[in-house]
Amino acid sequence: MFEVNMKPRRLADLASVVPPDRLDRLENRVGPGMREQMDGAQIINVNSTASGGGVAEMLHVLLPLTLGVGLNTRWFVLEGDPEFFTLTKRLHHRLHGNKGDDGHLGEQEAAVMQRVAEANFPTLLAAITPGDVVILHDPQTAPLAGMLAAHGVPVVWRCHVGVDHDNLYTEEAWEFLRQFLYGNVGEYVFTRPSYAPDWVAPDRLRIIKPSIDPLAPKNEELSEADILGALSGSGIIAGPGFGDAGFVRADGTRSPFTIQADIVREGGPPPADTPLVVQVSRWDPLKDMAGGMQAFAEHVADRTDAHLMLVGPSTAQVSDDPEGQSVLEGIEAQWRALPQDVRERIHLVSLPMDDPEQNGALVNAIQRHAEIVAQKSLAEGFGLTVTEAMYKAKPVVASAVGGISDQIDDQVSGVLVADPRDLEAFGRAVVGLLRDPDVRERIGAAAHRRVVDVYLPDTSLDLWNEAVLSAIRHTRT
Ligand code: UDP
Repeated sequence: MFEVNMKPRRLADLASVVPPDRLDRLENRVGPGMREQMDGAQIINVNSTASGGGVAEMLHVLLPLTLGVGLNTRWFVLEGDPEFFTLTKRLHHRLHGNKGDDGHLGEQEAAVMQRVAEANFPTLLAAITPGDVVILHDPQTAPLAGMLAAHGVPVVWRCHVGVDHDNLYTEEAWEFLRQFLYGNVGEYVFTRPSYAPDWVAPDRLRIIKPSIDPLAPKNEELSEADILGALSGSGIIAGPGFGDAGFVRADGTRSPFTIQADIVREGGPPPADTPLVVQVSRWDPLKDMAGGMQAFAEHVADRTDAHLMLVGPSTAQVSDDPEGQSVLEGIEAQWRALPQDVRERIHLVSLPMDDPEQNGALVNAIQRHAEIVAQKSLAEGFGLTVTEAMYKAKPVVASAVGGISDQIDDQVSGVLVADPRDLEAFGRAVVGLLRDPDVRERIGAAAHRRVVDVYLPDTSLDLWNEAVLSAIRHTRT
């Protein structure tokens, strides 16, 4: 287990995007209340990766803000081996209602989870002082709950995944997790009420929506010159190259764009004025990049002049997601089988993760340059990529699954496709938007407003405060 270094985010920094009454509330009521209640005790977060994927992204948003309001927040990352991450990926799939691989979730698997937790626990325990609360994120951390409870430490377990309708796979996964969590967790936090298993008592269940950091390199304003420089320099589109293109890091310094994308394509990069349909996701079957590509090839390519860009992290670099490489290979094989003229308009882009801030800034540039952002997911706990695109006033076409349905009001702040497997409907929605600039603009503007109203981080701080206090209460009683 290792600790992630964080710098406080000053509340005043948010003044350019968060309305003053909300900041004032945070500064003068929520913040002082939280400081008084915690009285210097630490709030220690544990998850399984410091970068790549939505959970790391959310922690990078929220935790610096809690430091900024004067709380003693820390972030540790649990380390595991390939056997462990293969198993937790299986759990991830089953919690989404899918089989994933053929493996079991039995005693042997529980022992693997326990072994990894035991190896990580000493570092965590050494950091804990009396009065502290630990927030564990997602299934990977579940066995730590019992170890912490045995030491009298209040535990919040935050689950970022789930599906609305249970099936045999979700039931199997929840039964497996129950042995680690039940009786050891003071407070459970989910993204949607329907995601919680029925053995979570209602008085221990809290719903908190994720949020994005509007000032992070991933979301900050970028000039047109920075966007074109970043995208052409990295090889994603044609153009002048990096030049002076840069972005502002979290510490306020400006950095040049330097990274090269790894791109599977035929022919050259698209010119800057080619309309792009973009999906940014981990290479995960549930993100259904393959379905998005097929929908584009069959229902969009011959009706528009757009190109499709499927963008994901470099597959060697997301340690808690061992499946990425094989998923990308599968998509590449499918791409190779397409007719050449369609192939030339589909680009498979992998972005290096060595410098997460620059990776984020490049994602930002890609999202801002997109004409339309797609999220073709078959299941989605929340879908931060949707929030990120909406904040950038992009019209999003997405499957009406999980948290995406909460974010997008169909035809108002985005376009929802009711059946995630209906490729024709997906293609039709994309073509409709590509052909109508007025609708794109109207939906984009509404999307931006929705994110400012609901998904900026100040909105969830007091809910987190309540979750922590409730965990303390439940642990003492
Ligand atoms: N992401 C990224 N670089 C990439 C691909 C994805 O930074 O190359 C980020 C993306 O911008 C988003 C997060 O990873 O912030 C994915 O979160 P989401 O909730 O959409 O899905 P998850 O990966 O958690 O299932």
